[in-house]
Amino acid sequence: MDFSNRTPCSDENCPGTINENGYCGVCGKNSSEIIQWKSDESKLRQNIENLDKSVPKEGAYVRMTQYGGGASENQIVANRNGYLRLGIEFLKAAFAEKIYIEKEYPDVIDVDLDYLLKEPSTLYFDRFERTEGTPSVFRKESKTLKIILIVIIIVLGGCVVLALIGATTVLRWLF
Ligand SMILES: [Zn+2]
Repeated sequence: MDFSNRTPCSDENCPGTINENGYCGVCGKNSSEIIQWKSDESKLRQNIENLDKSVPKEGAYVRMTQYGGGASENQIVANRNGYLRLGIEFLKAAFAEKIYIEKEYPDVIDVDLDYLLKEPSTLYFDRFERTEGTPSVFRKESKTLKIILIVIIIVLGGCVVLALIGATTVLRWLF
């Protein structure tokens, strides 16, 4: 079979090629689906950029503290802009560029929470990874820490959802 004239999948994250039926042999999407998906993604990125501009960093604060001894006894206290900024930083993380730290961590991304997580926070985050595979950090950490991270991710995921709902409401008011 001659593969030389095959069109590569238009999703640049996919190594597949489009087969004679118009579908990618690896991800199974057809070219028009991928084009649609890319335009949806660029709209999403634009919305995130607009959100980023619309909520000031100044005065926004988030405090993450461990109030008890148990692995799940953590709390988040934040003001309204703090929650909004937290959600926005995580939305931005979905598209953040990967930065090189060391070979073992190829998926580290640049996420800045330092301006949000102020004293007297006891929980800080200085490394973020984005991967669709097995996260390399999780593999190295203990089970307890893994549970804490999952709880925090769920809470933060909730913040992202709230930020999106807020943005949708604002957009509905405007149009
Ligand atoms: Zn593909």
